Amino acid sequence: MPRPGLRGKPSKIVKTPGGKHILRKVDKKRGKDKCAICKGYLNGTYHGVGGLSKSSRRPKRPYGGYICSRCLQNLLEKAILSKI
Ligand SMILES: [Zn+2]
Repeated sequence: MPRPGLRGKPSKIVKTPGGKHILRKVDKKRGKDKCAICKGYLNGTYHGVGGLSKSSRRPKRPYGGYICSRCLQNLLEKAILSKI
C-alpha cells in the first residue's frame, strides 16, 4: 500500500525553475468516448483535463457524444422507412 500522500491522483516528476526535481500530482486524462451501439471511438469529443464546458465537449446534434454519426444516420433511416 502506498503512503497516504501518494494515493489518488497520478504523480509526475517535474523540474522547477530553480533546478529541483519534485513530484507533482497531475489530473488523470479520461479515455476516449465510445459509441453506445457500435462501440467505436467518437469523433469531435474532448477527452482532455478540464478547460471546456460540458456542452462544448461534444457535437451539437441529437445524441451527440453518445452515438456516432453513422449509427444515428442508420437509426433515422430506419425510423423514416418504417413510417412509409
Ligand atoms: Zn456507432
